[in-house]
Amino acid sequence: MIPFLSFDAVVLQTKTEILQRFEQFLDSKYYVLGKEVENFEKNYAKLNQTNFCVGLANGLDALFLSLRALNIGQGDEVIVPSNTYIATVLAISYVGASPVFVEPNPLTFNLDPQKLAAALTPKTKAIMPVHLYGQACEMDEIMDFANKNRLFVVEDNAQSHLATYNGKLTGSFGQINGTSFYPSKNLGALGDAGAITTNDENLALKIKTLRNYGSQKRYYNKVIGVNSRLDEVQAGILDVKLKYLQVWTAERQLLASYYHEFLAGVGDLFLPFTAKNATHVYHLFVIQTNFRDQLQKYLTEKQIGTLIHYPIPPHLQDAYQYLGYKKGDFPIAEKLANTCLSLPLYVGLSKDQVFEVCQEIKAFFGK
Ligand SMILES: *Cc1c(COP(=O)(O)O)cnc(C)c1O
Repeated sequence: MIPFLSFDAVVLQTKTEILQRFEQFLDSKYYVLGKEVENFEKNYAKLNQTNFCVGLANGLDALFLSLRALNIGQGDEVIVPSNTYIATVLAISYVGASPVFVEPNPLTFNLDPQKLAAALTPKTKAIMPVHLYGQACEMDEIMDFANKNRLFVVEDNAQSHLATYNGKLTGSFGQINGTSFYPSKNLGALGDAGAITTNDENLALKIKTLRNYGSQKRYYNKVIGVNSRLDEVQAGILDVKLKYLQVWTAERQLLASYYHEFLAGVGDLFLPFTAKNATHVYHLFVIQTNFRDQLQKYLTEKQIGTLIHYPIPPHLQDAYQYLGYKKGDFPIAEKLANTCLSLPLYVGLSKDQVFEVCQEIKAFFGK
């Protein structure tokens, strides 16, 4: 049996340190916005090569509060890839702005800079590139377009900690960027957590204010904020795990290279393709095949876990029916939804297990 995801190896590697941290935290008797959050923010900002990081309750809040900090709201349009995870689109809805979907590049699944011009209107305020599955978007091209047209860029860095474009880290291009530390992300807490990264001190202060009821001084409220503080316990856990992130990322990339080796030329598979100048940190290893449902069923019978990221693109979700889209409006996103399959890839998965998954896939196509 090979599960789609297992935390076994990560728990084994970090358990002692996490328990020590928890004991420190317990004894500190300071349970909200204390030393752990401040310390993690400093260390994550350094790792992501940005001046500031502000810890938040989750990734969705990081994206939504980023848009709020940029004063994006009702009547504004935000460009977003048509094949993203729903949270990116929800963030736009939360501030009252309208999502404008742009089709991805069909090879990388990432926002296609060539298609941005056609989506531009006088209402466009920002672009939200999503480094999907862990591959960096073509950020230089996207930033050029944004700068020429005076648009903000808010990166969705939830799946791509430590990915780079032309050597620069994702989460450090946009004016302000959101990330998630949901447990299954490449850097994951043991519960919900998220953060923004920015080089703009003013934006960092705005987020700190917004996350704490819109208050900088206790009981004085500057704006209508929310409660979206990063939890002290999660911050401590993330700080322990932060030290392993580079090694874990290399392990993911090595596992991905085995998949590439063992699956080359098998069936009608389309394997992950990384753009020139981009790196891929393999949050997910997503293949495409016209026989997706049959292959998934076959692998399930062989006790190999797989998932579909994602089965329904945002424009076809019930929640977004009011936008008036129909099947066929974004064919690249729809094709991806119908053909993609994510294979097991996590810290602690062995080369032999990757081999076994690939043998079963070959057996399926050999029939
Ligand atoms: C996980 C994820 C989010 C949301 O993060 P949460 O912490 O679950 O709110 C946003 N965007 C993408 C692309 C994600 O994968």
